[in-house]
Amino acid sequence: MKKLIIISTVCIALILSACSNSSNKSEQANSKEETTFHAIDTTQLTKGATYYQCEMHHEVTSDQPGSCPKCGMDLEKVVKQ
Ligand SMILES: [Zn+2]
Repeated sequence: MKKLIIISTVCIALILSACSNSSNKSEQANSKEETTFHAIDTTQLTKGATYYQCEMHHEVTSDQPGSCPKCGMDLEKVVKQ
């Protein structure tokens, strides 16, 4: 009878640790999504449209203010020519 109690206790401990591990993984995935960088295709923009671009990385563009994911600099507002 004592063995059953020990086995069930170990099982519960394993299930609880598995649950806490999976919740930690989902938290990490959520933090990755928290970025102000939204890549846009500037060739699709009309003349006079504004977008945001990194001074150092011209391929880094966004439809809203944010920071460059490569160097961390603030994106500069650009008017499509
Ligand atoms: Zn940059």
